[in-house]
Amino acid sequence: MEKMKIAIDGPAASGKTTAGLLLARRLGYIFFDTGIMYRVVTWAALERGIDVLNEKEVSNLARELEIEIKPPSKNDGRVNDVIVGGKDVTLDIRNSLVNQNVSQVSTYFGVRDSLTLKQRSIADKGSIVMAGRDIGTVVLPDADF
Ligand code: C5P
Repeated sequence: MEKMKIAIDGPAASGKTTAGLLLARRLGYIFFDTGIMYRVVTWAALERGIDVLNEKEVSNLARELEIEIKPPSKNDGRVNDVIVGGKDVTLDIRNSLVNQNVSQVSTYFGVRDSLTLKQRSIADKGSIVMAGRDIGTVVLPDADF
């Protein structure tokens, strides 16, 4: 089977990234950690002074943001490069303010809906290992594994 889509679901700190990276490396596939996208929306809201409790504004932001996910360009522990509006935000999205607010942002239906569509379009090309809490169940129910 070629160009498979492989979904790895699991709660926080269950080893999705560790297992996913090893598998992707072995297959020569891309690894994509979907938590990155929730972090990007949270970071961008904070950066723009949008109240993270404002579901409507945060959902609009999630729909409009162009998020580029690339293979890692540096060997500093990152699993993907994350580019938003031409800026490398890979490290910014790991700051403590994002950590504190990302789970709130990820509860918004509008945010989940927009990010699910973006994740599906990234997976469409295949040869990918995608990790998150809802990948096999919601994002890629057609995944090969
Ligand atoms: O995996 P990571 O800690 O970077 O994910 C950040 C947050 O994004 C999670 O705590 C969760 O709230 C949210 N998330 C999600 N669905 C995903 C991936 C992440 O709700 N598929």
